[in-house]
Amino acid sequence: MARPPESVVHGSQAPKSASTPTTDLARPQQLPALDKLLRVPAVAHLVGAHGHTVVADTARTLLADLRAQAVAGTLAAGAVDTQVIADALHRRVADRLAPRMKPVLNLTGTVIHTNLGRALLAPSALRHVQAMMAGPNNLEYDLASGQRGDRDSIVEGLLCELTGAEAATVVNNNAAAVLLTLAALARGKEVIVSRGELVEIGGAFRMPDVMESAGAKLVEVGTTNRTHPADYERAITERTALLMKVHTSNYAVQGFTSAVDEATLAAIAHARGLPVATDLGAGALIDMAAYGLPREPTPQEMLRAGCDVVTFSGDKLLGGPQAGLIVGSKECVGRIRKFPMKRALRMSKLPLAALEATLMLYQQPEHLAQALPTLRLLTRPLADIEATAALVLPVLGAALAPRYAVEPVALQGQIGSGSLPVERLPSAGVAIAPVDGQRSGRVLDALAAALRQLPQPVIGRIADGRLLLDCRCLEDATALTNQIPFLSL
Ligand SMILES: *Cc1c(COP(=O)(O)O)cnc(C)c1O
Repeated sequence: MARPPESVVHGSQAPKSASTPTTDLARPQQLPALDKLLRVPAVAHLVGAHGHTVVADTARTLLADLRAQAVAGTLAAGAVDTQVIADALHRRVADRLAPRMKPVLNLTGTVIHTNLGRALLAPSALRHVQAMMAGPNNLEYDLASGQRGDRDSIVEGLLCELTGAEAATVVNNNAAAVLLTLAALARGKEVIVSRGELVEIGGAFRMPDVMESAGAKLVEVGTTNRTHPADYERAITERTALLMKVHTSNYAVQGFTSAVDEATLAAIAHARGLPVATDLGAGALIDMAAYGLPREPTPQEMLRAGCDVVTFSGDKLLGGPQAGLIVGSKECVGRIRKFPMKRALRMSKLPLAALEATLMLYQQPEHLAQALPTLRLLTRPLADIEATAALVLPVLGAALAPRYAVEPVALQGQIGSGSLPVERLPSAGVAIAPVDGQRSGRVLDALAAALRQLPQPVIGRIADGRLLLDCRCLEDATALTNQIPFLSL
């Protein structure tokens, strides 16, 4: 385990005042003054590198902390040594200047992991972001006319081309897309949704609550497992503004079930002059089955079936930045775009550049499985994953022996982010278990914590008394093995 940053004596190691001579403890007046500390060569060097402001401020807090410990009689005599204090200051300054957001290794087996940042951006998207953010660009400027332009026009053409929609607009995320769609099309009126689709996506995004925030009244029809066309027909009144379908992306109702498909729903709605909106969530723009993955409905299919608006995420299966994409008819998308709330939910230029470059990859579908990191990881051959696991195994085995046994293991991964919840991705990795006689829970937690403390933290999962490291998302084994010398248990 890492030593505490300062040589502090605390807890059970604290000398008992009765049995320990007081000379082992430091007195507050033995601590150096701030200006003297700043003149110590190692500290002066730190000031030269990072400036007086952050170093002096950090030194002030460090000295105050040491003084408080000295007053409390818990500071070891050696801790007042200027060199010891300078070292501690180095660590504090380095920690303070280190970003809180860092790259990690996702060995959880869940490819699109919401807590670990969801989709990875393609190199072309990263390059486009860098090129666009470093200087001015034509975000809202029409280069042909020299007049004010619309930021939507950057991706609208691409989105229409890829989905077959008449119009498209984009907002911050799909939650915002759903909220805006409901507010723009149904504020003060009723929206009919099947009881089987009143989903909670997590992070307090529940369809009924979103409906309320949008100022629309939810009318539930059918039952949890079965909803029929007549259920929708009976619920339509002059107060109805919209019929809505929500793709139940993060769970599956199995057994005696029945749902009304989009084409049937669109026919019912259109006969009464009403629009249909579908929230797809995952947002696959391609036929996942063609890549050997579980089928996922596409916006194209939804539009062909007659849906007037389709909303989906940018950073799930699409493989781009956080974004909410809204595609559909000119009339509905036009109302959505003009709704005042759009201004508050509009996308920033930074993800917009990433989204444009990501969508451009779909213009060359032949290269997609290589060019789009998320799709590349989802379709990574099992033999490849097993080969990575075989490289990791001996290095971890040697480092963790004799306390832990490391074995190759066949695993079942997930796509993640609520997409295709029931399906599993056959994967491979290593399983680490404490050798006999150890209390496995505590010992495994300690190992998981040590892996999280590595320069590039390694995140696995604990299941059945073992720590599992799924190698699907580890394309370069050395990213893990090169760090093992830093592992401190
Ligand atoms: C994920 C999801 C959302 C929310 O999308 P974000 O882009 O995370 O805001 C909404 N609806 C469904 C069905 C989803 O799966």
